Amino acid sequence: MSADKTLAEAQSIVWDAFAPGPVVRRRVHAAMGLVLAQDVLTDIAFPPYDRVAMDGYAVKATDTIGATADSPVVLTVVGASVAGAPFDGQVQPGTAAKVMTGSVLPPGADAVVKVEDTGGYSNESASIHSTVVAGQHIAATGEDLAAGSIVVPAGTHLGVQHVHALLSAGADHVQVYAPPSVTVFATGDELVSPASVPGPGQIRESNSGAAAAWLASLGIDAVVQPAVVDDPIVMRSAFERALRDFDVVILSGGVSMGEKDHVKPVLRELGVDLVFESLQLRPGHPTTFGVHDRGWVFALPGNPVAVVATLVAVFAPGIRRRMGHLTAMPAARYVELGFDARRRGSRPQLLPVSLESAPRPGLSRAFDTRHHGSGDFVSLARAQGFAWLDGAEATFPAGTVVRFYPVADS
Ligand code: AMP
Ligand code: MG
Repeated sequence: MSADKTLAEAQSIVWDAFAPGPVVRRRVHAAMGLVLAQDVLTDIAFPPYDRVAMDGYAVKATDTIGATADSPVVLTVVGASVAGAPFDGQVQPGTAAKVMTGSVLPPGADAVVKVEDTGGYSNESASIHSTVVAGQHIAATGEDLAAGSIVVPAGTHLGVQHVHALLSAGADHVQVYAPPSVTVFATGDELVSPASVPGPGQIRESNSGAAAAWLASLGIDAVVQPAVVDDPIVMRSAFERALRDFDVVILSGGVSMGEKDHVKPVLRELGVDLVFESLQLRPGHPTTFGVHDRGWVFALPGNPVAVVATLVAVFAPGIRRRMGHLTAMPAARYVELGFDARRRGSRPQLLPVSLESAPRPGLSRAFDTRHHGSGDFVSLARAQGFAWLDGAEATFPAGTVVRFYPVADS
């Protein structure tokens, strides 16, 4: 068996083993949460015309010199420009046009006096109460972006803020990376469905649902399958079908050294190359990653905390690469420990921690969840993520700043 990989090694092995998935065309709002596979250019400038930014009067700025409420300048009103119906005349010296926000600046005008700085709207004459300079209250053609420029670049993780820009650029469909097809199932003779009451020695199967929930947070709709018993024959047929039908197969349990841990031999028999089988990590020491000619296998240890920790910290890079992300991990986050943490044993640890609920400026502080070990999903339910306790020392005094892996990316 190969030597235990470090977390950093495992992350880069997983990232390297994947490639971006196939590109598909989606309607923009259905592409939310996916990664853009093309640069999207705008066919028009933003704004597309000199746009009035205030309700008021369009004027020649030089006509307003010296205007005050006590000594107004009076201009002749020659027309109006409203959104969707531009003024077709010309603003000449001594004249003004009524304008509404969003309308086209009337030809000849070079500034807008807001209506609050006038004697109010009139169809005959405009009483101007303040001086404006050229360009005032006007958004100039192309000041946000020139026609033909990239409005949203390839590699962007599409959010609400991109939808406006894409639609305004005329892109109602876009090319994005398709999420991988993923199936999840648990292995173990002791597992019963969450809907039933466990008998002696039985436990409720919660790993595959939790893995599917994590995938859902990344925009992947995974297929959860019934748990498989610890029998190599049964496993073989279940795994074979899963490897054939899905890009990514996520298994839990059965990867340790026990007599009933058949997952790895069965995967090998099915032609899966086990790229790593153990990590310098707690929880998650027997975490196994496999590749085969049609896809990838994440074989996670059965303990619930190990399942979440390894998905979040070890396997996220593979899913992210497949989905077209440009980095293995979201931007690194750090927290300041609000308690004295102690690593158990010699391996670097991903420790469930809760973050203070009222964040202060600067680093968030992380607190103890009374964690009892990798089977303790109760303490995990108090946590927002994992503090990374790495390095030579076993103790991490309050105030130490450490890397933080959130359970759900944001
Ligand atoms: P294993 O890795 O198969 O030795 O499993 C380790 C421990 O994890 C088991 O003893 C169970 O307590 C727990 N476990 C395994 N599979 C699941 C599962 N699907 N859901 C919840 N807990 C599990
Ligand atoms: Mg087991």
